[in-house]
Amino acid sequence: MKIDYTFHSHTFRCNHAEGDIEDYVSLAIKNGMKIYGVSDHVFLPGVSEPKTRGEYSCLEGYINAFKEAKKKHLNEIEMYLGFECEYASVFEDYYKSLLYEKGFDYLICGQHNGFDENKNYIHLVKNHFRDEIEDLEEYVKEVNNAIRSGLFLYIAHPDLLFISAKEVTPELERLSDELIECAIKNNAVFEINIHGLYRQEKNAPYGNIGYPASYFWKKVAKTNIRVVYGGDYHFLWEVGDKHLEEKLNKFIKECNIKLSDIKEIYKEYRERIKK
Ligand SMILES: [Zn+2]
Ligand SMILES: [Zn+2]
Repeated sequence: MKIDYTFHSHTFRCNHAEGDIEDYVSLAIKNGMKIYGVSDHVFLPGVSEPKTRGEYSCLEGYINAFKEAKKKHLNEIEMYLGFECEYASVFEDYYKSLLYEKGFDYLICGQHNGFDENKNYIHLVKNHFRDEIEDLEEYVKEVNNAIRSGLFLYIAHPDLLFISAKEVTPELERLSDELIECAIKNNAVFEINIHGLYRQEKNAPYGNIGYPASYFWKKVAKTNIRVVYGGDYHFLWEVGDKHLEEKLNKFIKECNIKLSDIKEIYKEYRERIKK
């Protein structure tokens, strides 16, 4: 299988990725990709997290950079404008305004942290350190809220749960089941994260399971949950990288996963979020 789409990619605006939309899209076209969705870490009004996401004031520049690239490459690739969002009830109206007023095509959920009703940051998962079970409980609670909200095309790296785990504990088994059950019930879509394959390799010395976690995906493969992949590109070299593509194919085979049609999923999503 050749990687020929992504609905998950970033830009320099989040301050931990390189390049702008045009840089990535021209590489995607060169590598024969058919669909390129841009989903930088969502800019949040009233929230400043300089290492995680762009300031809210980046919004117009982001939209314009997308429009320019889309116009330039109209006949070469399908492009979609999105954001990768943490679910928090306090932001639900803002997320709706992105879709219904700002012309965004889609949102995906990537639950790296949470926010309370005063927009205060809630720690959920942290690389290299052991996560507290309470944080992971909160992670699952918010991802399941995201699923039930219906606002998201798919759940990016649902198995972020395993980022700091050294082994699959009974708690992680239970929390995986809770995510999977909610996804089955609500017909949600899960993403295997390609950037995670790179991070897993890089973080191997720490001995963490990381993501994608085969324990999780083998379970998913036994259900009817639809599965797609997402590049989650933070670096230009990741676009069209053969090593990552091989790793993805190996992982899919090892977990016995059948990929679903992203075009069908996107179509269904757009129908669903129609007012
Ligand atoms: Zn990122
Ligand atoms: Zn991402």
